[in-house]
Amino acid sequence: MRITSDYHMHSEHSGDSTAPMRSMIESSINKGLNEICFTEHMDLDYPIGPDNPEGFFEIDADAYREDFLKCKEEYKGKIDLHFGIELGLQPHIVKENTDFLNKYPFEFIIGSNHLCNHKDPYYPSFYEGRSSDDAIREFFESTLENIKYFHNFDVLGHLDYIVRYLPNPDDYNFQNFSDIIDEILNILISENKGLDVNTKSFQSGMNDPNPCIGILARFYELGGRIITFGSDAHKPEHIAYDFERARQTALKAGFTSYCTFADRKPVFHDL
Ligand SMILES: [Zn+2]
Ligand SMILES: [Zn+2]
Repeated sequence: MRITSDYHMHSEHSGDSTAPMRSMIESSINKGLNEICFTEHMDLDYPIGPDNPEGFFEIDADAYREDFLKCKEEYKGKIDLHFGIELGLQPHIVKENTDFLNKYPFEFIIGSNHLCNHKDPYYPSFYEGRSSDDAIREFFESTLENIKYFHNFDVLGHLDYIVRYLPNPDDYNFQNFSDIIDEILNILISENKGLDVNTKSFQSGMNDPNPCIGILARFYELGGRIITFGSDAHKPEHIAYDFERARQTALKAGFTSYCTFADRKPVFHDL
């Protein structure tokens, strides 16, 4: 069955997108989706850099909520809209993140590890003076630390996010980190959480979604059943990007269903 829901996308309510919500919704309808979830960025204490002034990834959630509710009314009967968030995890902001989530009725929460020790692997400086494997290990260790401290999310965002930005992506072999990846996956499974199958990597010519097929297969083998599909689109044209390819990847990894969410609870659909 074709995937008809995109559960990871951003609009102008995220610091790094200029797309109005309505343009994202119109594009989703044109692409034949019947359900989408906005997952705007909320990264508290994101380091200040040349592209991002202070507070760049901090959302005005009141404005987001207001815009969302108007759209929901406007598009009633045309597409099912959900109010979500992509929350940046860091060990020292557990309380701030918890307080933030308690203020808004999010229907779906992606927990994402965008920073390791306050640095984003997006930037080349992250890799200077060390091997790719050392950088990747630090990234997974930081993910593990985050999910040990923080539990209020539904799926872990783009588990091997760092691979998108490695100086040489061919350096990546997830099996070199199977010890720590297993720990991450086992925690998610024991807490009934899932994985975001993120297709943004296909946009840059990579062969796997994030996480890669090997990690998806391992998740399934260990008992994980909750996956959502997300394009991580920041522009209307990228919505549902290469979803058929991601569906084939999930099938090959062993999955027979995928999820949407209603009030933080997974709803299963045939793949
Ligand atoms: Zn992200
Ligand atoms: Zn995202």
